[in-house]
Amino acid sequence: MWGYKIITTNQIDYDKNNRAIRNKILALEPSLRICIACGACTATCTAGNLTPFNIRRMNVLLQRGEYDDLKSELGKCMLCGKCTLVCPRGVNLRNLILKTRETLLNDECHVL
Ligand code: SF4
Ligand code: SF4
Repeated sequence: MWGYKIITTNQIDYDKNNRAIRNKILALEPSLRICIACGACTATCTAGNLTPFNIRRMNVLLQRGEYDDLKSELGKCMLCGKCTLVCPRGVNLRNLILKTRETLLNDECHVL
């Protein structure tokens, strides 16, 4: 007994998310798997300096299999590549963003 418990209304069951799209994107750019969520990409992001865009949050959403915000937010990236240059783990974020955009767009086309 810890004297507290998780409030059920605040629980998020990630196992219910569709990870198929995420797995497809990670197969195209596997370097995201070694991200340590340090935030260096977010701190240097050109789009993040001009808008509320947060590339680290995008990475987390992708890993969780939550795509709604990704679709609307990723268009803010200008593909300048600064995030890729500063990443201490060598994650190719620029390519990841490109592959994510392409995959989500193709996925939408298949649904329509
Ligand atoms: S800089 Fe690299 S390791 Fe750090 S949060 Fe961004 S992608 Fe992950
Ligand atoms: S490539 Fe996109 S996410 Fe990376 S620093 Fe530039 S604007 Fe930000």
